Amino acid sequence: MPKAQETCLEIDLKALEHNFKHLKSKLNPHTRFLAVVKAFAYGSDAEVIANHLQKLDVDYFAVAYTTEGIALRNAGITKPIMVLHPLPVHFEDIIERCLEPALYNAKVLNEFIAKAEALNQKAYPVHIKFNTGLNRLGFWENDVDFIASKVSESESITVRSIFSHLAASEDLNEKEFTLKQIEDFKAIAEEFSKKTNTNPWLHLCNTSGTINYPEAHLDMVRCGIGLYGFGNDKNENKHLKPIATLKSVISQIHLIEPNETVGYNRAYSAKSYEKTATIPIGHADGIGRQYGNEKGYIIINGKKAPIIGNVCMDMIMVNITNIECREGDEVIIFNGEHSAEDFASQANTISYEIITAISQRIKRIVIA
Ligand SMILES: *Cc1c(COP(=O)(O)O)cnc(C)c1O
Repeated sequence: MPKAQETCLEIDLKALEHNFKHLKSKLNPHTRFLAVVKAFAYGSDAEVIANHLQKLDVDYFAVAYTTEGIALRNAGITKPIMVLHPLPVHFEDIIERCLEPALYNAKVLNEFIAKAEALNQKAYPVHIKFNTGLNRLGFWENDVDFIASKVSESESITVRSIFSHLAASEDLNEKEFTLKQIEDFKAIAEEFSKKTNTNPWLHLCNTSGTINYPEAHLDMVRCGIGLYGFGNDKNENKHLKPIATLKSVISQIHLIEPNETVGYNRAYSAKSYEKTATIPIGHADGIGRQYGNEKGYIIINGKKAPIIGNVCMDMIMVNITNIECREGDEVIIFNGEHSAEDFASQANTISYEIITAISQRIKRIVIA
């Protein structure tokens, strides 16, 4: 790769393919693979990622919101797209663009059926979400009778799958809770099948569920973070490759004297003669204010440069007193070696938050 001359996010499609194949190798041949590409494919580029996965013959996609699904359709995605968190205001768009809603309570089920009937739909595919302990979205077990009667009453929809979401699949201290969720979900599925006389697909696992609970793969898994190179586990990370590298450049170097301060509110005060570099990336780009004041570092010519003072909207300042570097040099915020997970942990957060926060104004460079 040529050296960066501005802030950019490189997206490595070979790494994506590697991660996809690695996760898929854990599955039985009959288990489908749903790729979660919400939030711009976890801060990368949903259109690029989805198009590549579509070529690799992924079975399904999921996004969080309807507008994300519409963007994928506009980008040439023809595979099924599940909308995990649809709102009634978008039901017409959902049907128009052949998106498949996850229905999670009586209100959205009723309103979706009404819309599907109004638009003369027959057997429109929907997915029913059950809550088994996350307490976020989903019907309760005792809603099965209600759902069964609604579904049997209307020919406008068909239930393609029923699913739930694990609350702590990455935390093996919570294994007992997770096993209970799996068991409860299977019981709900059985009751649902019996009462509707149908056999919808069943799915339950996100990336960590896929890794830690092979007995719960069922008919489909829903992987997000693993595709992007993180397994929420040191051992699993060895088999995955982060797809994104966030780079920038040194805009300016300052030599400062003892007791001079750096940045807003004079938050950093030099202890001696020091050297700082200003980098064109800030909290508007996803480097939040939890960084700075010596939390977090970037890599310059192989060395750690701590972020000093307060993070600005469009810039950070780093201490380069002991680093040989020049204005215009490339810097690394994270890459395969210095991972986004490490960078996240320096500010007590998780890879998910850091990668999804990378602003849309940062240039994406796709490496095929
Ligand atoms: C985001 C999401 C996933 C993907 O989770 P990862 O941990 O990124 O694999 C799966 N299912 C649902 C319902 C989600 O919201």
